[in-house]
Amino acid sequence: MSKTYRLGVLDGDGIGPEIVPASVEIATAAAEAVGVGIDWLTLPLGSDAITTHDTPVPDETKKTLAELDGWYLGPHDSVSYPEPHKSALNPSGTLRKHFRLFANIRPAKSFPGAEAVCDNADLVIVRENTEGFYADRNTYAGTGEFMPTPDTAIMLGIITREATERVARVAFDLARARRKKLTIVHKANVLKLTTGLFRSVCQEVAEDYPDVTVDDFHIDAMTVHLVRRAQDFDVIVTENMFGDILSDLAGEISGSLGTAPSINASADTAMAQASHGSAPDIAGQDIANPVAMILSGAMLFEWLSSRHDDPAIARAAKIIEAGVATTIERGISTRDLGGSASTSEFTRAVIQAVRDGAGQN
Ligand code: ATP
Repeated sequence: MSKTYRLGVLDGDGIGPEIVPASVEIATAAAEAVGVGIDWLTLPLGSDAITTHDTPVPDETKKTLAELDGWYLGPHDSVSYPEPHKSALNPSGTLRKHFRLFANIRPAKSFPGAEAVCDNADLVIVRENTEGFYADRNTYAGTGEFMPTPDTAIMLGIITREATERVARVAFDLARARRKKLTIVHKANVLKLTTGLFRSVCQEVAEDYPDVTVDDFHIDAMTVHLVRRAQDFDVIVTENMFGDILSDLAGEISGSLGTAPSINASADTAMAQASHGSAPDIAGQDIANPVAMILSGAMLFEWLSSRHDDPAIARAAKIIEAGVATTIERGISTRDLGGSASTSEFTRAVIQAVRDGAGQN
């Protein structure tokens, strides 16, 4: 029996209460199959927490998360929150900032058997998560945006050597373990000091990784390259906002935003979080694609495996990934991927595939 992990479950808003429990069920089946114990702790977050605790991220949630090995975060619909919560830093920003989760790792991979603009994409975006042009990450107090007159708004963007270097090292380590190609994305022709610093620090880090081939593109040109030839990219490193936009694009190109997973990690803890938002337009209809959240959980398992040197939980991650791929290959998928399965039908099919796959393991 390997270690027993303690993991938090934060359902969030919109489609969160549909896709997070589905992902937890699948993860539990995979963990049981390889003898990994998981204690799941459900904690308040989001609009329900505003009702019960008068804040979307209660202190008790943060305090409990600090004692856990990691957690699943569902999406939040913070634009629908009442003031003052609507104008404050949103729940995922709050948790990323509080736990210093500096690297947001967002893979985009096409599935055989699923419709996609690019059917052979296999890339990972490593997004700096603590500063950049996300103004609300850049201040101790306040949101980093100012409105000196009703007709003028100013925001604060920050790039530092320290934050760029630590995220660049995560990206280069990842590239080294993959196809050994890394692309730096910036806008150094216009934002010369800020994104220029980002590019030059990444290039300095590259000197420690002579086995990794490096190129770089401006963010606007990069959108064109991704649409035209996503399959050519391996690891992409970029600042916070560019990474947010680019990863939605990469997820959609490789199938659907509903399949794009991510983790947010520091050296000590990690948070599984789908790349997409709370999709309020389809919430409560049992039609959301749970794949991004399911695979974010598999990424968390892989991260826990490296952190605790535990091969068993890495096997559980592989079983989850194979269960999703097999289900889609069998022609079962939600409608965003061209299928007709509901969230719960798809989830049941993946649980069956996980049990079958684990039996053959
Ligand atoms: P945020 O800013 O919180 O990331 P957003 O404004 O980018 O949110 P999303 O909530 O990600 O928007 O939704 C964008 C579109 O993608 C919507 O049409 C939504 O229905 C669709 N979408 C997002 N996630 C899924 C999913 N898991 N399954 C199916 N469709 C999804």
